[in-house]
Amino acid sequence: MVLEQTGTCQLKMHFMVDIWRAVATELAPLRCQFCDAPCAGLPLCAACRATLPWNDPACPRCAQPQHHDGVCADCLAHPPPFAAAWAPLRLATPTQQQIHALKYRAAFLHAHVFGELLADALHARGRPLPDVIIPVPLHPLRLWRRGYNQSVELARALARRDGLRVEPRWAERRRATRDQIGMHAVERRRNVRGAFVVDAGVRDLRVALLDDVMTTGATLAELARACLRAGACQVEAWAIARAP
Ligand SMILES: [Zn+2]
Ligand SMILES: [Zn+2]
Repeated sequence: MVLEQTGTCQLKMHFMVDIWRAVATELAPLRCQFCDAPCAGLPLCAACRATLPWNDPACPRCAQPQHHDGVCADCLAHPPPFAAAWAPLRLATPTQQQIHALKYRAAFLHAHVFGELLADALHARGRPLPDVIIPVPLHPLRLWRRGYNQSVELARALARRDGLRVEPRWAERRRATRDQIGMHAVERRRNVRGAFVVDAGVRDLRVALLDDVMTTGATLAELARACLRAGACQVEAWAIARAP
């Protein structure tokens, strides 16, 4: 019941954002979501776009920023459960502030901007597209409190251009986990162990998991394990930004 209400609430918010975008485009010049300068097309000006902290080069297995394109020493020693990790930006100014606004202040236009940036980067990446994108789920209680899941908003914005399939209900967070800010890698792994249940719909599919930020990758790794247990044939871990 609570989830249904939250879903309806999300639909209403999407509807309002679409209406707002249509009206704003008609009546007023578009403003850059990062610096408020007038711009055209995407609400992101050329100057801000040019200063984005792209995560390149990075390890192809864990997206850790580094100085070469090869697999990092950590992944060679302990390969993660996902086949690849992709986070096109680094968690630095201004992406950090915009992600925070999306996560805690319902700044849905940021999801639109990041979704478009991710869609561009996905084409530049040149790897086969997944069969389905599964946003990292929030625990129902946190979803109810926040009213939306920022990863679902991002997944929808990213998927729109290529018509990719998004299945926000295929993964559930059964156990409420503590907020991971300030935890080190071992604590984060322990905190999310056994937290997820994944729908059997993933069987034989290539899955991309999507989170807003990838920090140690513990959450994405645990969700990847749950997908593989449910029969997914390949799992990639995606995020907008990688924390160093
Ligand atoms: Zn700007
Ligand atoms: Zn790595």
